[in-house]
Amino acid sequence: LFSTKKHDVVVIGGGPGGYFAAIRAAQLGLDTACIEKRGSLGGTCLNVGCIPSKALLNNSHLYHQVKTESSKRGIHIQGEVKPNLVNLMKAKKATVKQLTGGVEILFRKYGVTYYKGNGSFVDEHNLKVDPIDGGIEATIEAKNIIIATGSEPSPFPGIEIDQERIVDSTGVLSLAETPKRLAIIGGGIIGLEMGSVWSRLGSEVTILEFQTAIGGAGMDAEVAKATQKFLKKQGLNFQLGAKVRKATRTGDEVDIEFEDVKTGEVKNIQSDVLLVAVGRRPYSSGLNAEAIGLEFDKKKRIVIDSEYRTKYSHIQCIGDVTFGAMLAHKAEDEGVAAAEYIKLGTGHVNYDNIPAVMYSHPEVAWTGKNEEELKAAGVKYKTGKFPFVANSRAKTNMDTEGFVKFIADAETQKVLGVHIIGPNAGEMIAEAVLAIEYGASCEDIYRVCHAHPTLSEAFKEAAMTVFDKPINY
Ligand code: FAD
Repeated sequence: LFSTKKHDVVVIGGGPGGYFAAIRAAQLGLDTACIEKRGSLGGTCLNVGCIPSKALLNNSHLYHQVKTESSKRGIHIQGEVKPNLVNLMKAKKATVKQLTGGVEILFRKYGVTYYKGNGSFVDEHNLKVDPIDGGIEATIEAKNIIIATGSEPSPFPGIEIDQERIVDSTGVLSLAETPKRLAIIGGGIIGLEMGSVWSRLGSEVTILEFQTAIGGAGMDAEVAKATQKFLKKQGLNFQLGAKVRKATRTGDEVDIEFEDVKTGEVKNIQSDVLLVAVGRRPYSSGLNAEAIGLEFDKKKRIVIDSEYRTKYSHIQCIGDVTFGAMLAHKAEDEGVAAAEYIKLGTGHVNYDNIPAVMYSHPEVAWTGKNEEELKAAGVKYKTGKFPFVANSRAKTNMDTEGFVKFIADAETQKVLGVHIIGPNAGEMIAEAVLAIEYGASCEDIYRVCHAHPTLSEAFKEAAMTVFDKPINY
């Protein structure tokens, strides 16, 4: 049961964007509330995105490693090594529960009022909450409003998701059994991560991708090629340049028809499960944005200015529902910045330096510009590369696939982009983000001491190769 309340800040949506905004606003002394209709906090990311997918990726990798690498690592296993899907899913659920519950604890700690329900506009200052637990709806008056309603999987025209045989990114995280065959429409990050999980657990995975390269926009072409090679070696099949025309479920089988873009030939494949992973789209249904005439662009993103303000200066919008990369850390940083704009009049997010990570094995991570972007912009650059096969820690770990690649200004050696494929690339990219943020040159990185033996020495040596020779290669 809700009572009518007034708050300095009301955040609509409790995902990474919304919950960061709410906590930061409360920390800054503002009376803050957050409305979330899912029943648990953390949004797509904690409930059906980043966190459950990484739980499955990590544990399926451990299983696969034990199964395929034990003997070369000197570990004797008696009996058969088998995955237990029920327990894998239990482990995933436990992680999700701990983390979403953790956000609720943080809300209590910082005094954020949590309304469990759908929030919608009555007018520019008043929001209606329809509680999900059958309580009485309430109106909240807000001095400032931050919209953080996120995104949802994009549908594929004509293909109906039943979350059983034809699934989206939510369904594929909770399959009841390992499909013998898994077809995936979309060779972007979500498709490749989920393909990795189920391939390790025993599925025969086929990726159907319209483009002629995997990884989606942003992934450096050289890295994308290497990634495809490694994933192929792990058993994933790729059909690039494949334009899917339709998919039909008959009983327990899905028939997928696609056109080979190059030859025009129409082909069919059959699968036990089909994952549709063709991207995500902004989500704002239920918000009643029409009531106040909020502006949307062609892609249904809410239009904002550089301080996250909509056409109303007291209504901001952040995260997946507005412009920019659909990534949790981008939404989080915007949440913090939006709250700081309200209280302090200033905030900071550098959109030229948002890292992206694919948690396959090896991992792929990058930040800044790639070669294709620099060529298009006419920037003169130099590259430097160092392979993990020449790094002592990677050798020790018997995990040597991949390389670190630097792209730097041809004249000043200022780092413009870093692209890594290799073990722990997702952790290592943090150093690149910091280097770019502070305008470091390759030599600056080379002059900084890196511990031995660590994978980060490959990072340092890759920086060296831009202007001089590396020591170990
Ligand atoms: P969301 O997380 O979508 O949260 C929005 C919330 O608002 C939802 O909980 C929704 O219920 C609520 N809401 C919507 N409308 C209303 C309303 N009217 N009233 C009340 N509540 C409302 N990103 C990464 O950075 N790293 C990853 O590894 C990663 N992996 C992913 C894996 C998968 C399978 C998927 C699907 C996504 C992944 N993402 C990843 C993307 C990431 O989840 C999103 O970018 C991030 O969640 C966006 O945060 P957000 O706060 O903008 O929106």
